Amino acid sequence: MTSWDVTLDRVLGAKTGKALDSALGLSTVGDLLRHYPRRYAERGELTAIAGLELGEHATVLAQVERVAKRSMKSRRGTIVEARITDGHRSLTITFFNQAWRERELLPGRRGMFAGKVTAYRNNLQLAHPEYQLFGEDADVGSAAEEFAAALLPVYPAAQGLPSWSLARCVRQVLDVWDGTDDPLPAELRERHGLSDLDTALRRIHQPQDHEDLATARQRLKWDEALSVQLALARLRGSAESHPAPSCPPRPDGVRTAFDERLPFELTAGQREIGERVAVDLTAEHPMNRLVQGEVGSGKTVVALRAMLQAVDAGRQTAMLAPTEVLAAQHARSLSELLGDLGRAGELGAAEQATSVTLLTGSLPTAQRRAAMLAAASGEAGIVVGTHALIQDRVSFADLGLVVVDEQHRFGVEQRDALRARGPAGTSPHVLVMTATPIPRTVAMTVYGDLEVSALRELPRGRSPISTSVVPVAEKPGWLDRAWARVREEVAAGHQAYVVCPRIGDDEDEKPAKGKKKSAEPEEPPSDDGQQRRPPLAVLEVAEQLTAGPLAGLRVAVLHGRLPADEKDAVMRGFAAGEVDVLVATTVVEVGVNVPNATAMVIMDADRFGVSQLHQLRGRIGRGSAAGLCLLVTDAMGGTTTRERLDAVASTTDGFELAQLDLELRREGDILGAAQSGRRSGLKMLSLLRDEDVIAEARDEAERVVGADPELRAHPGLARMVAEVVDEERAGFLEKS
Ligand code: ADP
Ligand code: MG
Repeated sequence: MTSWDVTLDRVLGAKTGKALDSALGLSTVGDLLRHYPRRYAERGELTAIAGLELGEHATVLAQVERVAKRSMKSRRGTIVEARITDGHRSLTITFFNQAWRERELLPGRRGMFAGKVTAYRNNLQLAHPEYQLFGEDADVGSAAEEFAAALLPVYPAAQGLPSWSLARCVRQVLDVWDGTDDPLPAELRERHGLSDLDTALRRIHQPQDHEDLATARQRLKWDEALSVQLALARLRGSAESHPAPSCPPRPDGVRTAFDERLPFELTAGQREIGERVAVDLTAEHPMNRLVQGEVGSGKTVVALRAMLQAVDAGRQTAMLAPTEVLAAQHARSLSELLGDLGRAGELGAAEQATSVTLLTGSLPTAQRRAAMLAAASGEAGIVVGTHALIQDRVSFADLGLVVVDEQHRFGVEQRDALRARGPAGTSPHVLVMTATPIPRTVAMTVYGDLEVSALRELPRGRSPISTSVVPVAEKPGWLDRAWARVREEVAAGHQAYVVCPRIGDDEDEKPAKGKKKSAEPEEPPSDDGQQRRPPLAVLEVAEQLTAGPLAGLRVAVLHGRLPADEKDAVMRGFAAGEVDVLVATTVVEVGVNVPNATAMVIMDADRFGVSQLHQLRGRIGRGSAAGLCLLVTDAMGGTTTRERLDAVASTTDGFELAQLDLELRREGDILGAAQSGRRSGLKMLSLLRDEDVIAEARDEAERVVGADPELRAHPGLARMVAEVVDEERAGFLEKS
């Protein structure tokens, strides 16, 4: 009786069982059968040695080129050194005091070699090598048998457990395995044309041909996609089961008054999302909605209309921005949008008016205290601040809605902090706004417990932004031209941003102290792995510009380490047109709205990520004049780095860019921390390529959980979910 949960020591013996457990964390039959081959080698194929990565534990199919034995000088003993080749490049393997290896590793013989890839004096080596030779002769080893198959599975292996040992273990297990109850209902399998689990597992480990593999993979991808989507559907379900403060719209309220005064017409997207949000807010269970919309697509108005609906219901709302600068700016622009509808308590306020209160840590004490009081008493209708509003437990009399701006990483923890913060222990509604477009599959998986709406169109009359790469290494003259363009924009009455990756103050010179400063972008590695010069810094560039190419213009600097009031003053000055050129870090990345700014020069553009560049340039072209964005870089043509910049220059469609970005990067980078926790869970499924499977699985999950939230009637599915996504891991999915 060998079933899924039987421990491996009972099938394979204590020693092997222990080795599998300690090296690879595989303790049951099920664990081993879910340890899928990483790839398959075709009969007769050799592994490309050039493609190996240093430090990797590799399994290489190769041919012995030559072998030699010599004696060690320092100690008594012998060294056997062999070179193995793929026909192009070779690797050295070395054995100490195992003279007999010389007789086995005969030139011309082929086999699988496993070990860690290292380099020694420009020579690639396989350290601590293990091998299994193929061959007709005496060696009745399993590799020979395995190699009779057209497709040889190559397993993720560990030191002491080479791929061929794993293949042998799997074979032994499959020989005595009774099979398992298929967790996927037969009816679901039929609808999607999926094979049963037993067949899929046998085929993934021992495929006869590529067709076997394709059907097995399709089925196993479904297991993963459905598990994740079931977990997320349950998460959504449980979030929805909390009570929330219902905020029904009021026909004669401040929202209606606001709509009537809007100086422009809402776009179709704004109206449509607005309607969905209005329905969500009316419900007795919390809304959890993510609105992703192009930079400049008008998310603030969507958010404000939602907030006004909550105010109409007699409740308060909080708006969270990623930085204090942005919070201050939001407070200002909300007040502007509202006009006299936002001046409750002041002379000349409209009848239904509410008020906008800024509440941040850097406010003078008295002002801060007054703001806290206004929040606690319920007098403040709209409170704008940073995340500290939630973390510091500022108390609200009747918090109905929390809007989180430009922060798609508003995960489970943050939402947990909101739980029961509404009136009478309810959980306020949450609306998350982001301009970072997330590819659909990532949204469905990583942010899968949120409802996602997309705002794809820009308001009419928005000016186009043209983006060009300025390759200073190849065309040094272009940089002068870039500064000339900035002067032209300023001469025409416009303003410009110059963005640099680094601040360049004393703090920067100190060795990094653990945490990265938020002003610094994550730096993509250089293509050639060469040591690079430090990125250009705001303070230095500003100095050079004022002394040189931009002499005579009014230049100011802005970065995250300026005191809050100074930051605020600089931003105000820029918004008021008192500054021509703002030299800044990525603090201007999000939310900053100065329609008169028409040019942006991004220095060392290659140090920023694709979506970050897209965000940055969203700061221009917000007014009636066309925007110009220049990406300055040393990167040479033909490198991946340049490819990324060219992609940014080629399109202003953020969704298209997000997809391109996903393709140019490893998926792991995008999933961040989530990936590490999940590596063991998602082995087959690719967020990039398996959009169809993910979408279908999401629909199925929705149906199953809708009818059976606890999965009581589906013990197999419940088990599978636990296997792929255990409870603690359910949260990580969006902590990335
Ligand atoms: P984002 O989505 O990047 O946050 P904002 O909400 O800041 O964009 O909007 C950018 C600008 O567009 C603001 O000045 C806003 O008033 C304006 N705007 C918003 N909606 C419309 C619309 N429907 N028609 C014209 N202008 C609009
Ligand atoms: Mg915005």
